[in-house]
Amino acid sequence: MKKTMVTPVRAAPAYEVVTEHLRRALQLGRLMPGERLPAERQLADQLGVSRTTLRQAIRVLELEGIVESRRGPAGGLFVLPQRYGERQVKAMMAERFAQIEELHQFRLVIETATARAAALNRTDKDIGRMQAALATMSAIIAQPAATKVPDHVAHFLAADSDFHTSIAAATGNSYLAHAVEEIRATRLIPIGAVFTRLDPTTNDGHQDLLDAIVAQDADRAAECMASHLTGAHEGIKRQIQSELKAQAAAERKVRERKSGAVKSGPSNVSEHRD
Ligand SMILES: [Zn+2]
Repeated sequence: MKKTMVTPVRAAPAYEVVTEHLRRALQLGRLMPGERLPAERQLADQLGVSRTTLRQAIRVLELEGIVESRRGPAGGLFVLPQRYGERQVKAMMAERFAQIEELHQFRLVIETATARAAALNRTDKDIGRMQAALATMSAIIAQPAATKVPDHVAHFLAADSDFHTSIAAATGNSYLAHAVEEIRATRLIPIGAVFTRLDPTTNDGHQDLLDAIVAQDADRAAECMASHLTGAHEGIKRQIQSELKAQAAAERKVRERKSGAVKSGPSNVSEHRD
């Protein structure tokens, strides 16, 4: 039998398109944990769909634990913080580890080219957007650990996302802008949901990068972007490795306790808790 050249088209129902759209907004940090979504009629208008379609999409997101509707005067539809169980986290991170190198290589190619083009094409308005995003990130990093607001990691990542997508927008090239958005959407899901603290080096290089773009120095902007991305990549790998190690140690402890074979070490003095 002759092989067909094309596969059949499966048209997605409207509510699935809406679900995907809202999921993506969350992944990009355009919707934040705790945020209340607009009222049904308004949201349906904004999305350009019927209220029935919207309701179907909301039901799916509710089942997935992404949003929650609350009753009462302060009620409405709220974005839930994305938390995962330990098992889920472990599976996600192991999977991510294989992917993370590939994504980094892609980022290096796309985002250094983006920085170069942004330095040459940026407007004052673009610079304003980058400065605002950087100010948000610096403020979050500067907060003392004790007073860190909940979800500060998610807020930081959303500002970081805004910083990188505003650089992409400054190129004036919609393909580059789309590629960077794609990278951000892929990257944010597990990382924002998994990590509860920020690597201290997370904000490194942003200021130098912005300075180079302001100065319209394309070579320097590309260099700064490359070193920022490589630094961030190393930081993420360190963090994943240490979380995986901590989880393996915790599991080993549980297993030992279960088998009743817990031997106390040479001295318990070295064990201290904070
Ligand atoms: Zn960054």
